[in-house]
Amino acid sequence: MVRVSVLGSGSKGNCTVVSTSRTRIVLDAGLSCREIVKRMRFSGEDPEKLDAVLITHEHQDHVQGLSVLARRWNVPVYATQATHAAWRAWITPRTTMSLNAWLELRRQQYAESLKAGAYGENDPAAGSPPSGASVEIPSLAAAAETHSQPEHGSSETIAAQPAEGASHNGADVLPDPEELIPSGGPASADPAYLPCVEHFRAGIPFEVGDIHVTPFTIPHDAADPVGFVLQAEGVRVVVATDLGYLAPNVRMHLRGADLLIIESNHDVEMLRDGPYPWIVKQRVLSRVGHLSNDALGEYLSSEYDGAARYVILAHISESNNLPALARSSAERALDGRLGVLRNNVLLASQHEPLKPIDL
Ligand SMILES: [Zn+2]
Ligand SMILES: [Zn+2]
Repeated sequence: MVRVSVLGSGSKGNCTVVSTSRTRIVLDAGLSCREIVKRMRFSGEDPEKLDAVLITHEHQDHVQGLSVLARRWNVPVYATQATHAAWRAWITPRTTMSLNAWLELRRQQYAESLKAGAYGENDPAAGSPPSGASVEIPSLAAAAETHSQPEHGSSETIAAQPAEGASHNGADVLPDPEELIPSGGPASADPAYLPCVEHFRAGIPFEVGDIHVTPFTIPHDAADPVGFVLQAEGVRVVVATDLGYLAPNVRMHLRGADLLIIESNHDVEMLRDGPYPWIVKQRVLSRVGHLSNDALGEYLSSEYDGAARYVILAHISESNNLPALARSSAERALDGRLGVLRNNVLLASQHEPLKPIDL
């Protein structure tokens, strides 16, 4: 038997548990660890028996509780290398300082050194800064001006740059998973520390216990986003949320699903008339944004093979959608299909887990 428990889904956090008698996987850790554990227990799943956390992409609503969950329960994390690097950049505090702040610090240090008598009475140059220092400060000020040029943005812009090694190029220099374990062990202060990381690549299947996992690329504005096909005991579960459109490779992976967790993010009219800034609306509507009720309905009414016993509508926007709209759009699409009889349409909620489904 395969059990699927959607613990929560939406822009405030996504997390699903898939388990067999031998293996227990968490897909995305987008709720707080405390909430994940609470909802797991409510759903009859034991967090102590977790075998893996699989991450679709690094957006906050998919990784919010990741590090605490992985550390607290000593769970291996599976992610693509690019997703892992992007998550590390996100969770690592910025250690760089704005140039103005740095200049101020240097001035204070210099003043302190004068007070402390670094250039004391016995120093022949007492009472005036050493020649090197007098040159250094203006040159730094000049540097500040250079960096304040419009093309470089303000000093805040400089401060907002990711920490060293946190750029997207970080993926190229990411160390092996074993090297990620700091010498200090789990007590280390490194916020990006994870007890165990396994990198997978989209399109290349792997096993977690008796669950066969196939990650596939989805079109979304993240470093290397994926959906998952999970197969065990003759059951096929497909998870595809956070995708701008149903690309051909996604449609291929959706075929033959016994249970489908698929995005029905927004009602296009509600989004257009809704509270989001224009730029965010454009992002959501784009080919690397989120799937609308209409786009999903179009798929369900045409290419969808009708194989799933359960179609779970997920990542439903609380600002730009209504559960009733998402449901009616999907059910209308399925009702029009001859031979598609056994699909149960369920709605994943942000605030409470769905009743576990046994397949
Ligand atoms: Zn996302
Ligand atoms: Zn999301």
